[in-house]
Amino acid sequence: MAKLDRSSLSRRQILAAGAASLTYAALPRAAFAKAPMANTQAPAFYRFKVGGFEATVVSDGPLHMGEPNAGVFSDVSKEQMVKELTDNFLPTDDVLLEQNALVINTGERVVLFDTGVGSTKIMGPDSGRLISSLKAAGLDPKDVDAVVLTHAHPDHCWALMADDGSRNFPNAQIYMAQADLDFWTDEGKLTHPQLKDFIAGTRKHLLPNRDRMVFVRDGQEFLPGIQAMAAPGHTVGHTIYVITSQGKSLCNLGDIAHHHVMSVESPRREFAYDTDGKQAVASRLRVFDMLASQRVAAVTYHFPWPGLGHIGKQGNGYRYFPAPLRTVM
Ligand SMILES: [Zn+2]
Repeated sequence: MAKLDRSSLSRRQILAAGAASLTYAALPRAAFAKAPMANTQAPAFYRFKVGGFEATVVSDGPLHMGEPNAGVFSDVSKEQMVKELTDNFLPTDDVLLEQNALVINTGERVVLFDTGVGSTKIMGPDSGRLISSLKAAGLDPKDVDAVVLTHAHPDHCWALMADDGSRNFPNAQIYMAQADLDFWTDEGKLTHPQLKDFIAGTRKHLLPNRDRMVFVRDGQEFLPGIQAMAAPGHTVGHTIYVITSQGKSLCNLGDIAHHHVMSVESPRREFAYDTDGKQAVASRLRVFDMLASQRVAAVTYHFPWPGLGHIGKQGNGYRYFPAPLRTVM
């Protein structure tokens, strides 16, 4: 953090600061209490209502992406990314992507959207917290009836299985697009230079669950109040979900966009991890237009915790409006 430059403060502020330090010096030493610093954060869950459903966002912890690099987004230089981060008061030495997993309790079923990255630390030491976040929120992984995947990337499905080969959600059916199962477990890609590690890891989490998998189709309401909407491009089967109860709707957006500034205000940028960048842009524009015009709230997986907010039109692009967080339900 930069040191505050006092020369830029007004004379009145400096006078006030001087008066405050006089008061401080005059206080007797015994007035100060000492306590160890806690060095812990509040449990990472956030709860709200969608009509008659209870929604809880649970965190798997952030992914550390490091310094911005040219090539992450199509045709965007490192200097331009640094400028956009700086203009938005965001760190330029380590871009953080959160992992906001949505849980919907319909009253009949507990539905978890995406699982986090599991025990792998390929994107820094702070991930892999989803199970403990669920428990902190009073949700037992055994009570999860459905795990619904937006897509089959590591940070979305690599916690289906525990390291010992048992299931983290032993009573859950798994819902996903068949196109993503086929692509990300394809034996033929086990020698692909860029994809092989993703494929090998994803096979460990998806193939043992083949018999409990249900494939979702575009437009299908596959659970009461939960509708699939194909939004391909980031992956071949990338799917978003519209949750509706008592006339209220919430959209679970998965990876329709990765950064709340850089890929919302300039939504036509292709992202390096998109399977088909042009198709991802088309899906993003279509979904953002729907959210902005219908004023539907959304949870976005990688946006700043807890990823709940609105997308509005701004100029030639869009703008992310985080929802005010509430301290009561
Ligand atoms: Zn992701």
